[in-house]
Amino acid sequence: MPTPLLSVFLAILISSSTTTADEATPVTRFQQYLRFKTAHPNPNYTAPVSFLTSIAESLGLKAQTFEFVAEKPVLLLTWTGSNPSLPSLLLNSHLDSVPAEPSKWIHPPFAAVRDQDGKIFARGAQDDKCIAIQYLEAIRNLKGRGFVPARTVHVSYVPEEEIGGEDGAQKFVASQVFDELRVGFVLDEGQASVNDEFRVFYADRSPWKVIIKAIGQPGHGSRMYDNGATENLMESVEVISRFRESQFDVLKAGKAPASEVISVNPVYLKAGIPSPTGFVMNMQPSEAEAGYDVRMPPAADPDLMRKRIAEEWAPAERNMTFEIQEKGPIRDLKGNPLVTATDDSNPWWSVFKQAIAAAGGKLGKPEILASTTDARFMRELGIPALGFSPMTNTPILLHDHNEFLEESVFLKGIGVYEHVISSLSSFEAVNDV
Ligand SMILES: [Zn+2]
Repeated sequence: MPTPLLSVFLAILISSSTTTADEATPVTRFQQYLRFKTAHPNPNYTAPVSFLTSIAESLGLKAQTFEFVAEKPVLLLTWTGSNPSLPSLLLNSHLDSVPAEPSKWIHPPFAAVRDQDGKIFARGAQDDKCIAIQYLEAIRNLKGRGFVPARTVHVSYVPEEEIGGEDGAQKFVASQVFDELRVGFVLDEGQASVNDEFRVFYADRSPWKVIIKAIGQPGHGSRMYDNGATENLMESVEVISRFRESQFDVLKAGKAPASEVISVNPVYLKAGIPSPTGFVMNMQPSEAEAGYDVRMPPAADPDLMRKRIAEEWAPAERNMTFEIQEKGPIRDLKGNPLVTATDDSNPWWSVFKQAIAAAGGKLGKPEILASTTDARFMRELGIPALGFSPMTNTPILLHDHNEFLEESVFLKGIGVYEHVISSLSSFEAVNDV
């Protein structure tokens, strides 16, 4: 039994510690998370992982860290459902960010400054540290109301997304750990919407790096002969430009959005024989090459594209060869396009859509993402995955200078996830994977 004086002292201690705990809010936790320097090429993974782990533990979630590649941790949080035999729900986000040039920002990119309008400026504010914290804040609120999910909810934080995900999500998804999660449905990052409709993404485009090479007989610059390397390459460049134009015309005419055409962009040209003053001008070189960034929408046939490249872009009869570097899968393990159904054939979709409506939100027409995310690795296993970051009336600033998110948008997103997580984790119609 404490003496009266000690009781007073204890009461002060308890109330002051309570005050300190109250000072941390969803927004300050978001700001704290934004301050970790997670930009490539040297992302700090240790500090954000321990920060997230401590939040998870305070919420009573199980936290596990895996290193499928040394020093590239995957953090997995688990909220066990009342019926863990149901396929689980996975909420994914990536830990890393792209670099930022501080001199081009109005606030330092890792200071998470909140201006007087409530805009929080930081690299990663939209891509995708917002959802990382929103998932946890939604779980905090659901737990606070005594909600218990039926299916188990997992939250994963993966490294290396911004550089292709090979050492992050790809290894995680291929692991036995992932297999044992029995994931039925994934939510991953999406993008901001400039109007009041939430954007949702059901597929990504697959990036191909296409390199075409020509070889030919070297010769004097004065001689005209067939099959010179540069000449052969330039003929291919023309063929490729015509294909590029055909795709671009579809886009310009508004017949398809950018993410549904095959984009083709020349990124480098390499030819010529260097000399101390530039290039040797009276010699035709024996080698020439060009590099293209090609992005394939899921509806495009990769075999047909390979055939086109082999026959038209780099035909052997013109002494050409080619190389295609594919980043990640383009078809799932059953050979189907990496696409998540957004109709009532997918029960997860129907529940997701209803949850957004219940949260007072509107969903835009489902889209294909023009670039790629980690969701493609889950789709490769045939797991339905949607890209969704609840940001409306927000300029699209991912990878841009002065990336920011308004506090009110961030807070509204937490409420949206409360609806989404509670609905997706409690319907029992899908009971097998
Ligand atoms: Zn991202």
